[in-house]
Amino acid sequence: MTDPIRSITRRFPGVPTLEGAGVRLRRSFSNPEVPLLDPFLLLDRFGSSNPADYMAGFPWHPHRGIQTVTYMLGGQVAHGDTLGNSGVIGAGDVQWMNSGSGIIHQEMPQRTEGPMAGFQLWVNLPAREKMDVPAYRGLSAPELPTATTDEGARVKVLAGQYRDVEGPVRGISVDPTYFDVTLPPNAPFAWTPPSGHTLFAHAVDGTSRFEGHDAEPLPSGETALFGPGDEVRARAGPEGGRFLLVSGRPLHEPVAWYGPIVMNRPDEIQDAVRELRQGGFIKHRKPIVEE
Ligand code: FE
Repeated sequence: MTDPIRSITRRFPGVPTLEGAGVRLRRSFSNPEVPLLDPFLLLDRFGSSNPADYMAGFPWHPHRGIQTVTYMLGGQVAHGDTLGNSGVIGAGDVQWMNSGSGIIHQEMPQRTEGPMAGFQLWVNLPAREKMDVPAYRGLSAPELPTATTDEGARVKVLAGQYRDVEGPVRGISVDPTYFDVTLPPNAPFAWTPPSGHTLFAHAVDGTSRFEGHDAEPLPSGETALFGPGDEVRARAGPEGGRFLLVSGRPLHEPVAWYGPIVMNRPDEIQDAVRELRQGGFIKHRKPIVEE
């Protein structure tokens, strides 16, 4: 018999990390945590009012074998790749990038009024899809639907389904859910993730308390992994709360991880590194831009 409530089993306070060419960010989880969050590999939160913390950006770098999901809360990131795609990810927008067999891109935060803030989540690809054709999905804030409950909860749905509201990012094999949940003071929230999915929450603002064995409030900046069960239940603190809620079907496949390249076996990493040095890393000249 499964627990009716999915309780917090692990907390990740986040570690200050210097990434890219010198961007100060906070890393919630990464390769030391494999396979706890399978199919998710990494969650970074960036946010600063000081351009010196982010202007160095993430210049040209490769990816293979993963999806990178960039969700901006404020500011702008300009992106471009060696194959001719380019654009700007602005506040409230999401870019769901499937590196597939290989892409070389750059992600450069722009100097803006007010804070630059956002998240990058890495979603693993199943072995059979790691060498597929790369693909981008860019969705602007107005394209992302929001469900509102009678208690005043606002659930922005990037992927997956909340009640009758379905997110626009579909057709991904780990069947991800990605919600941005905003609760008024003391308001409740409940949701039943797809059965067997890995589930985590990241507190964006305020505090929210999740029901279960560990019912200590989740403070802003902290990430919580939930154990098995049926329903996740939360209640905002007196100042309200905002959190990301993310779920996905675990892959249960071996992970061989080398920086921005995540494969299943060490020889696949060796192939990728050799191709980067000697040529041949890019298998597909033109990625598909999915609508
Ligand atoms: Fe990247």
